[in-house]
Amino acid sequence: MIFVISGPSGCGKSTLIKQLLAGLPGLDFSVSHTTRAPRPEEVNGRDYYFVGREEFQRLQAAGALAESALVHGEWYGTSLAEIENKSKNKDLILDIDVQGARQIKARLKEASLIFVVPPSFSELEKRLRERKTDSPQAIALRLENARKEILQSDIFDYLVINGELDKAVEELRSIIIAHRCQFQARQKEFREILKSFEAGSIS
Ligand code: ADP
Ligand code: 5GP
Repeated sequence: MIFVISGPSGCGKSTLIKQLLAGLPGLDFSVSHTTRAPRPEEVNGRDYYFVGREEFQRLQAAGALAESALVHGEWYGTSLAEIENKSKNKDLILDIDVQGARQIKARLKEASLIFVVPPSFSELEKRLRERKTDSPQAIALRLENARKEILQSDIFDYLVINGELDKAVEELRSIIIAHRCQFQARQKEFREILKSFEAGSIS
């Protein structure tokens, strides 16, 4: 199962995803390619595959990306290999922007799209400022883009409001667990149970 998580920069997507991965087995994170410079605590191959613009363009031209978008002036994209490798044995989470979410929905109809919002614009601004990872100019651009992104959220299946962190994590967990319980998703387990009913004798 593919879960796409989008939302304005600074709303808390990475924080939520970290908690989700730590508490729910059978989930993996899709590491994106980006031309953006790494932040001090970020690790190549764990947070992103950091590449130059030429390498990114080469991947795009080679058709190696399932989706890609120019976000806040830098390129971001999900490779097909990343999705194929990591979704073999686990459900996969993609942290991508709204343009990317649209492309994934067109390619993979079964993907679930989750939009995360902060409780207010001023709270978003506060979180971006207090995160201390972006310059005032970069924060202004991210806030400007947030205004646009929030108006393009009509393609999403779910809305999670990240006010109180624990509540938002619980809502995300619930969405994923509910998907795992869908009849269609449990055919293999159900067939085994059916077999036991056919073979079982009444004592
Ligand atoms: P994103 O990945 O969406 O850009 P982050 O996960 O980096 O956002 O979160 C932005 C900042 O907001 C971080 O400093 C994070 O610790 C903080 N944050 C995330 N969720 C909450 C929350 N529910 N309440 C308060 N602060 C939060
Ligand atoms: P950041 O620079 O804060 O890590 O991410 C900025 C934005 O880029 C976020 O909205 C994030 O969801 C988005 N993003 C990260 N990876 C990808 C990707 O592979 N594709 C697309 N389309 N957006 C991405």
